[in-house]
Amino acid sequence: MMDEALYSIPQQLSAAAWPGWLIVRASDPAALVAALASENPERLIAVQLLDLTTDSEPFNAWAPGLPIELIMRDPAGEFPLLYGHSNLLDNHPVRAVVPVQPGFGKAVKVALALDFAVRLEPAQPEPALVEELADILEFYLHQATVSQPVEFFHGTLLGFYHNQPEPLWAVLDEEPQSLRYVADDGTESRHGRLAGADIPADSAPDADLAGWIDRVLASAEQCRSCEFLASCGGYFKWPRRDYDCAGVKRLFGELRAAAADLRRDLAAAPN
Ligand code: SF4
Repeated sequence: MMDEALYSIPQQLSAAAWPGWLIVRASDPAALVAALASENPERLIAVQLLDLTTDSEPFNAWAPGLPIELIMRDPAGEFPLLYGHSNLLDNHPVRAVVPVQPGFGKAVKVALALDFAVRLEPAQPEPALVEELADILEFYLHQATVSQPVEFFHGTLLGFYHNQPEPLWAVLDEEPQSLRYVADDGTESRHGRLAGADIPADSAPDADLAGWIDRVLASAEQCRSCEFLASCGGYFKWPRRDYDCAGVKRLFGELRAAAADLRRDLAAAPN
């Protein structure tokens, strides 16, 4: 993604106050459409709907092609709410953002059945959640009806397949060199798992993502010697630096094996 500044702002703040690219977090679609009527839509790269109980109909015919993310907070309880937003697909790419919490797999399966893409928020999964991730990875790899990407599985698999690994910071759209989070009161901070992290401002001021990974994100000794460094970029060592990566390394290993299988199957296929 671009290194230019990208701000995640709440809908009640004026988009005009922030330069560069914007992701707008919304819980009132009608009010957002009205407020952005005069805004250059090319500055908007996505809208995130924070409240799945609201009516998303005002988005349907507005800004065709603009990606919309459906932000889930309680995937095991909220998955039925996804059905109410399926009409958005008529005019928008739609992605469900699913935090990896107990029972999250049901939300992933419903989202895929509705033809939504999925972006997992894997946090730092404990062993039981790594097992659930492994189950969903198995489903994703082998269920013939799946036609939409589930990130981070899809991007990581392609990286292994093409021998061009992308770090999870890029695959999951969390590139710290460009992404800034603007809170409801207008204060700025780092985004997501780096919010509140003790990273000196001069650590990598003008670095690109590779520089950030080298100087900050994957500076832990375990990352330096990790066989999956290029596909991970130190992602799972944040925010808790002592997180045990054994489980997530198993997932990377399964994705690497799936990519090798895919290459072998395609090589054996008749022309
Ligand atoms: S899997 Fe763990 S040790 Fe390996 S690069 Fe990622 S965070 Fe570092």
